[in-house]
This record gives sequence, C-alpha cells and structure tokens, in this order.
Amino acid sequence: MKKLVILGAGCGGTMMANKLRRDLDDDWSITLIDKDNVHHYQPGWLFVPFDINKPQDIRRSRREFIKPGIEFVISKLTNVDWDKQEVSTETEGKFKYDILIMSTGCDIRPEEVEGLQEGWGKDIHGFYRVDDSQELGKALKKFKGGKLVINIAEMPIKCPVAPLEFAFLADWYFHSRKMRDQVEIEFVTPLAGAFTKPVATQVLTSACEDKNIKITPNFSIGSVDHVKKVISAYDGTEVNYDMLVSIPPNFGAQVMIDSGISDPMGYIPVDKHTLQPKDRDNVWVLGDGTNVPTSKAGAVAHFQGDIIHENIMAYVNGGEQHARSDGHAV
Ligand SMILES: Cc1cc2nc3c(=O)[nH]c(=O)nc-3n(C[C@H](O)[C@H](O)[C@H](O)COP(=O)(O)OP(=O)(O)OC[C@H]3O[C@@H](n4cnc5c(N)ncnc54)[C@H](O)[C@@H]3O)c2cc1C
Repeated sequence: MKKLVILGAGCGGTMMANKLRRDLDDDWSITLIDKDNVHHYQPGWLFVPFDINKPQDIRRSRREFIKPGIEFVISKLTNVDWDKQEVSTETEGKFKYDILIMSTGCDIRPEEVEGLQEGWGKDIHGFYRVDDSQELGKALKKFKGGKLVINIAEMPIKCPVAPLEFAFLADWYFHSRKMRDQVEIEFVTPLAGAFTKPVATQVLTSACEDKNIKITPNFSIGSVDHVKKVISAYDGTEVNYDMLVSIPPNFGAQVMIDSGISDPMGYIPVDKHTLQPKDRDNVWVLGDGTNVPTSKAGAVAHFQGDIIHENIMAYVNGGEQHARSDGHAV
C-alpha cells in the first residue's frame, strides 16, 4: 500500500484529501491529520462581534467534510522529517509517507508586539480567533463611544481585506445603535494606503472617506502601552485609542519552525509555481502556510489545490507535471 499523508484538516487539507480520494486508486491510503475535530468557517469570525454569526453556526465536526476511505487522525503534529519521509504526532505515533501534502495554515501571535499581549482582552481585542471575536462582541456592546482604532501589525496576514471589512461593519454597527457620531474610527495600517493594490486602494479610500473612517498609512507598530492606551510606531508616531482592534503578526505553524523546514515566521519556502519545496519531489504545500507572495485566503488555497491535484496525479502516473500556480484568487 502506498501512503499519502496530509497535514492540517482545514480548508486546504480537507479539500486535497477529498479530491485525491476520488482519483487515486485503492492501493493508495490517505491519512489526514489535525489536532482537533472542529472545523471553523474562519470568514464567519468577522461577523461574530456584530451578532450576525453565532460561533456555533460556523463550526462543524471535521469528519462531516471528510469522504469515506480517508483515515482521519486527531493529534497534534510534533515533527515533520522530509529526509525520513515521516511525520510525528503527540499521541498517535509516527506516519511514513510516499507523498506529503502540508496545509497547516497560520495563526496570530500577539506576543510578538511589545505590550500587546499584556493588554489583550482589556481595551484590546481581535477577531482572528473565535474566542476573541466573542469577547470583542461583548466589548462593543459596552462601548460608550470614543476612538476605535483598527490596527494591522504587519503583513502578511490571512484575508488582508478583513480588517477593512471590520471597519466598515463597525461604521454600520454604530450607525444602527444611533451612536456613530460619538465614535471616531481610525484604520492604522503598515501599507501605503487602504489596501495592497492601487485600483482597490483608490476605491476603498473613497469608501473610507464616505464613511468618515480615517486612514493612517505606513504605520509600523513597535509597541503598545495598554495603560496609556497608545500604540507607537518605530518612527515615534503615536496613535491613541479607547478601543484597539488588533490584527497581530501572523505566523505559520510552530511545528514547522521546530522541524527546521520553515522560515523564522513558520512559512514554508516553496517554488511559487509548483508549490513544492526545493529538491522535494514528493512534497507539496498549499494555503496560508507557504511563503508565496499571494494573498493568504481560502480562495487562493482552492486554486492552488487544483494545481497540486493535477501534478500529483501526473507524478503518480509517471507523466509530465504541467500545472503552474499564478497566485490568483478568483
Ligand atoms: C477573519 C477571517 C476572515 C477571512 N475571510 C476570508 C474570505 O472572505 N475569503 C477567503 O478566501 N479567505 C478568508 N479567510 C482566510 C481563510 O480562512 C484561510 O486562508 C484558509 O482557511 C487557509 O486554509 P489552510 O488550509 O491554509 O489553513 P486552515 O484552514 O487554517 O487549516 C490549517 C489546519 O492545520 C491545523 N494545524 C496547525 N498546526 C497543527 C499541528 N501542530 N498539529 C495538527 N494540526 C495542526 C489547524 O488545526 C487547522 O485545522 C479569512 C480568515 C479570517 C481569520
């Protein structure tokens, strides 16, 4: 029996397992590994603070999405060894593979900004984890007015447009509570403008003007003083807040750093067209955990999945691998 092992049963990993179970012969086993059995629909986290989504409505058992014929292992990954072609887990032992697909995503690291973790949950909140989204919802309900600052600590982050979407939703939310005139909204970003691309930036800047949302660009955060309620940039610029909604630095999975196969931020270096690490012809990586210069989005993972699917089928059948990723999301 030949072995395909897939790391991460989130968006990318689950999709790859299901696609390949359909097309690989029965002499291939497929093992999908994740640390838990809860699939979160992450875009829904954006709407939890505004009571549009309830956490229970946007999470499911991962098993519901996994096709028959796929072994689902629930255990935390502790090591990935490309030389031995083997991955290790905390409770379920080691798994050898002939082909490895990795889609372990990325997550926020508030502790990477001086002072941010210390103030987290006080007047500082986030929406890049479901528990944080719920806490933010409670804080918004209690907010009596003042300055709401939305800050992206640094790029890359997953779903780069989500922070701006949050600003627009906050504008709508305070309008609907008839207190928009008591709330100042400021969007503080390390980018040169509202968004990454020039045309989108122009449109989104004008939308911010219409909604009276101030944009403070080129702000590279150095520290947070949660007692004085001030964020400071490396160049000395300061922005005060009454409530800070922070998007902290995003890092790839710690296990990739510990296994010595990623860059220092946990992102796995791959060829941006083939999505394979250098000199590893049986390993493919997709989704938020790669270092490719494209948006970290489920939509991107979806199209990367098509490329990997086609090339793995060619690899298995001894054919030419023609498919190339160009990073598109639509
Ligand atoms: C607020 C928000 C809004 C978003 N909105 C959009 C949107 O509108 N459109 C869009 O396309 N994308 C959106 N995204 C991004 C999208 O959710 C991600 O890009 C997508 O989930 C990436 O898929 P992935 O497979 O790379 O990672 P994930 O789906 O995050 O899956 C990674 C999996 O790896 C597992 N894992 C990690 N480390 C370990 C370990 N050590 N052991 C075992 N398992 C491990 C995790 O448990 C997880 O299940 C949004 C994200 C957020 C946070």
